[in-house]
Amino acid sequence: MIVVDTLVKTFPGAGGAGEVMALQGIDLEIADGEIFGIVGPSGSGKSTLLRCLNLLEEPTSGRILLGGDDLSKLSGSELRSARRRIGTVFQQFNLLHSRTVVGNIEFPLEVAGVGKAERRSRAKALIDLVGLTGKEKSYPSQLSGGQQQRVGIARALAAEPDVLLCDEATSALDPDTTDQILDLVAEVNRRLGVTVVIITHELGVLRRVCTSAARLEAGRIVETGRITDLVAHPGSALGAAIVPVGD
Ligand code: ATP
Ligand code: MG
Repeated sequence: MIVVDTLVKTFPGAGGAGEVMALQGIDLEIADGEIFGIVGPSGSGKSTLLRCLNLLEEPTSGRILLGGDDLSKLSGSELRSARRRIGTVFQQFNLLHSRTVVGNIEFPLEVAGVGKAERRSRAKALIDLVGLTGKEKSYPSQLSGGQQQRVGIARALAAEPDVLLCDEATSALDPDTTDQILDLVAEVNRRLGVTVVIITHELGVLRRVCTSAARLEAGRIVETGRITDLVAHPGSALGAAIVPVGD
């Protein structure tokens, strides 16, 4: 279970202007095994929330608990090992262009000091899982966008995280490739049991794979629930948007 408790994140304003309150007290519970979607307009704080969850940003105040462990107060080696419990998939894939598919997937394991034989066997299993068998020695520039994102997903899973975070992970892909990548994320969730958090501005993403969702507006959660409940609730803006009239 991920628990976000009264999370606040402020940034200093540009040119000495007042500070920007990107997250204004977020409360959220994400159960193990969910595929949880976070939607909201540009600037509403989605990426900031995700960067707090993967410990790239330090919260200004509030707490983040993962499996009961408070992640908001860690430093040094504790912080590094906590980061390994959370894998992130990026919009622009963020692969290392000088490394092959295997080299990219093994990279986080090298950093973590995992031995070569163990790295190889984990990378091989992940390459099979994401459907890239035969592409082990290819470089990112030799792959399609969808294949590159498969590498991104495998790399995010290399350290066997409890949680997979996806920030607009399909925004750079065409609709068919988006569906294939979402189906892969759902398969990873099912087969490995990882909890998935997906940030998206596309309601089709929620419809296809998410079990629950939250809507952010100006740094606050304005609506949250299970997709089935949101869709059934006549007053839910999110539910109405997920199932268009006449669908
Ligand atoms: P988008 O859909 O455009 O990606 P978002 O919902 O991900 O938007 P965030 O990137 O989380 O939005 O930004 C939320 C607010 O915090 C915005 O007002 C943004 O300008 C501000 N912000 C984010 N990062 C920083 C930063 N490093 N320094 C200053 N302000 C920031
Ligand atoms: Mg963003």
